[in-house]
Amino acid sequence: MTDCLFCKIANKKTPAEIVYENDKVVVFKDIHPRAPIHLLIVPKKHITSVDHLELQDKELVGELILAAQKIAKEKKLNGYKLIINVGRSAGQVIDHLHLHLLSGEPAQLP
Ligand code: 5GP
Ligand code: ZN
Repeated sequence: MTDCLFCKIANKKTPAEIVYENDKVVVFKDIHPRAPIHLLIVPKKHITSVDHLELQDKELVGELILAAQKIAKEKKLNGYKLIINVGRSAGQVIDHLHLHLLSGEPAQLP
């Protein structure tokens, strides 16, 4: 989607501190970190939220979690949280599916 911030970051139209990328997923630093490590794991395909996932996306959802595991291993994280906000009332402000990866203390839930 052309007017979606995370699509723009995935397409390199908007800058972000990208820490990992493959053909399906991009990972970058959250601009307002709530923990010493706060990354956003984002599918390159535009999906609005968990509520908008379709059966065909199930492998992609696995890719997001495996990207988190890979980064955690590479950074030797001593534990981490994975959070997905779904809908405004749960705190979702960007309407492009993303997984928050938070690690280190103190961590305030996003
Ligand atoms: P949500 O509240 O939708 O689950 O999470 C959206 C996250 O995106 C927030 O933690 C927010 O700080 C982050 N964010 C918003 N705008 C930008 C931006 O332009 N660049 C980056 N890197 N992160 C952003
Ligand atoms: Zn998007």
